[in-house]
Amino acid sequence: MTHFCRAAILTFGLLAVSATADAQRPVKVFISVDMEGIGGVVTDQQLGPTGFEYNRFREFMTAEALAAIEGARQAGASQFVIADSHGNMQNLLIDRFPRDVTIIRGSPRPLSMMEGIDSTFSAVFFIGYHSATTNPEGVRAHTISSATLAAVKINGRASAESGLNAAVAGYFGVPVALVTGDEAAVGEVRALTPTVEGAVVKRAIGFHSAAVMTPEASQALIRDKARTAISRLREMRTYSEPAGPVRLELTYKNYTPAEMLSYLPGVERVDAHTVRFTGRNILEIPRFIQVATGYRADLTP
Ligand SMILES: [Zn+2]
Repeated sequence: MTHFCRAAILTFGLLAVSATADAQRPVKVFISVDMEGIGGVVTDQQLGPTGFEYNRFREFMTAEALAAIEGARQAGASQFVIADSHGNMQNLLIDRFPRDVTIIRGSPRPLSMMEGIDSTFSAVFFIGYHSATTNPEGVRAHTISSATLAAVKINGRASAESGLNAAVAGYFGVPVALVTGDEAAVGEVRALTPTVEGAVVKRAIGFHSAAVMTPEASQALIRDKARTAISRLREMRTYSEPAGPVRLELTYKNYTPAEMLSYLPGVERVDAHTVRFTGRNILEIPRFIQVATGYRADLTP
């Protein structure tokens, strides 16, 4: 407790009451787990069911999420919700997790990589994250869809998945306390919220190459940083977009998606490849992005 804090509590009874309530509130952590930023991942061979190393890397992805839980528990966190947030969103090996953990899996889901977050959480962790499609650096740098999108902007600024997801967390007043991935992914989150702890588990050489640590070393680093992140929770600052409408601009690699989306009321075509959608708040943005990148008339069932 700082000197200032002690003085304030002695002076204001109400503050003392709220500080006690805060201290008693269980430390609940929301963990969004992607795969491109998991230690050792360099190509699609590690990232999907047809890759020769995918099953092996599901193990490493699961182990990094577990390392984050262990580190956070050592610093006093007691409740965890894990959002499996890569590809088919069914990557994590759920039988490896402790019984008291809830795992969000499958898609679509309204808040996408942040489904399950609310204002009862004390911290958000981003595990296995990667940099934005507009970042020339970073292993597998892309935003939402490497196949279809060339840029994603929120309120006029280029955004990574981490920026969108940090703003969703910020809407609920929850800070991003830890990010893991290559140095480009960690750097992007630090630029938004400098208080975040970062675990750099690889150094990008190119889009499909990196100098990587062993899985054991990556997991040990993440465990340490998760512990530090939770022990520094009081210093963590939230990142949020200004209250009110949020402008999203999606730039496609092709023309036709932009042309067809502009038929929808509320969607404007900004240029040949770009559409603009304005959400009432940040929570509408992941919903729109999922429709704009995932809707097909032949969706089943
Ligand atoms: Zn991914």
